[in-house]
Amino acid sequence: ISEEEEPDGRARPIQVLVVKEDHTFELDEAALSRILLAEEVHNREVVAISVAGAFRKGKSFLMDFMLRYMYSQASEEWLGEAEEPLTGFSWRGGSERETTGIQIWSEVFLVDKPDGRKVAVLLMDTQGTFDSQSTLRDSATVFALSTMISSMQVYNISQNVQEDDLQHLQLFTEYGRLAMEETFLKPFQSMIFLVRDWSFPYEFGYGQEGGMKFLEKRLKISENQHEELQNVRKHIHSCFTNISCFLMPHPGLKVATNPNFDGRLKEIDREFINNLQILVPWLLSPKNLDVKEINGSNITCRGLLEYFKAYIKIYQG
Ligand code: GDP
Ligand code: MG
Repeated sequence: ISEEEEPDGRARPIQVLVVKEDHTFELDEAALSRILLAEEVHNREVVAISVAGAFRKGKSFLMDFMLRYMYSQASEEWLGEAEEPLTGFSWRGGSERETTGIQIWSEVFLVDKPDGRKVAVLLMDTQGTFDSQSTLRDSATVFALSTMISSMQVYNISQNVQEDDLQHLQLFTEYGRLAMEETFLKPFQSMIFLVRDWSFPYEFGYGQEGGMKFLEKRLKISENQHEELQNVRKHIHSCFTNISCFLMPHPGLKVATNPNFDGRLKEIDREFINNLQILVPWLLSPKNLDVKEINGSNITCRGLLEYFKAYIKIYQG
């Protein structure tokens, strides 16, 4: 069901939100409408999955594997051939511009959940920079928006969960909370801390179980912590219905440093691939896909478009 197609008929990432140099936001409403109002999907309940984080931290690389999984509809063989280059979010230069904003995969996937419901799955790539006050603010706003419109936010971070990452998160979610109506429900659904290049597997093992233990420790509130650190932690807990964490190993030097690397499995460390085979189905298998809820109601693609437009207005002032 690709709408925003290339002339050759292939789906691609569409930049739907851009933060411009003067810090204003531009929503490509026409493109977003073409994707979300497509005949086959507009009335379907939507599962909106966002991967968010700074540039050059392997988001596109991961999302290309997520696409493989979606395109093979969860078949055992989804990972692909050893010599097959990766395509998708990174398949052409245009998608690699360092634009703070949100890209959406032009194809919305229809998936049958085990309970018989057919849902529409939207993949979003949210990126920003965090190197100055002004870019931090723009990025926080974009992250807040993507958190508000997604049912699952995958926060892609490098090496560890630093105090900075938590503070950024608090800033994003603070923006988001302000923008949402008063509600007794937690405003957001799932937050997954995805730690790349985790290098202490002997302390906390790779994967979700190690990740949860690690995160518990990292988010623990203790008496002798500085008040600010305590608040960040309380705040994060109060915002999300589910919080989890996955620790990914380093993919190996070819992936990290070879400029000609094209994503083929053959050149990726085995340990990384093993964990990819756990991570991707954990995020995307039909039973784990949660429909987007706002104030307790399930949202359709059409509904999501309306929320998207409404939230943007808040930030445009
Ligand atoms: P994005 O800007 O976050 O989308 O990052 P990309 O997916 O474009 O990846 C940026 C660079 O990091 C590329 O050279 C990738 O080959 C490499 N890369 C991808 N995944 C990882 C990872 O898990 N760890 C490391 N160290 N590098 C990665
Ligand atoms: Mg990218």
